[in-house]
Amino acid sequence: MDKSIAVDIGFIGLGANLGDPVATLSSALSQIAELAHVELLACSSFYDSVPMGPSEQPNYTNAVCKISTTLDGLSLLKQLQHIEQTHGRIRTGDHWGPRTLDLDLLILGNQTYHTDELTLPHYGMQGREFVLVPMFELQPDLLMPDNTPIAKWVSECDVSQLRRISLN
Ligand code: AMP
Repeated sequence: MDKSIAVDIGFIGLGANLGDPVATLSSALSQIAELAHVELLACSSFYDSVPMGPSEQPNYTNAVCKISTTLDGLSLLKQLQHIEQTHGRIRTGDHWGPRTLDLDLLILGNQTYHTDELTLPHYGMQGREFVLVPMFELQPDLLMPDNTPIAKWVSECDVSQLRRISLN
């Protein structure tokens, strides 16, 4: 019998627009790196992006990290939600409102979920430059869930207001 444990490569989107977003994202990355059964492989640059939805809120700081893990998607989501909560994330049900920390599970190997708690692959990658540009930075040959090369999705995005943040 094959007793090997499946390891999946995953991508997690990070975003924050309240408090000190750069510090929050850095701290969240440290917490992701410390999760059991998760290895943090790489993180993209941090980017400044204009908010989706209501514009009367601060710009976002976004990044994407690449992990390997033996966890299933739902278990990993619960861990990510715990990290959000340690950063004071309050779930108001307001999808587009400001947030201290937002962690989105974007892709996890070939795992798919269509439940109330988890949609995987994440439904909102296409057209979101603040997700696709950092993902492209991490893995330019990535194929998206419909097998489209990520470069094509990036080329279809409006990147005019996305700015790479230089961290000293
Ligand atoms: P949001 O406020 O936009 O961060 O949405 C959070 C809600 O989306 C939570 O209730 C999650 O259970 C749900 N959700 C569904 N799919 C995902 C996913 N792939 N990554 C993160 N949250 C997800």
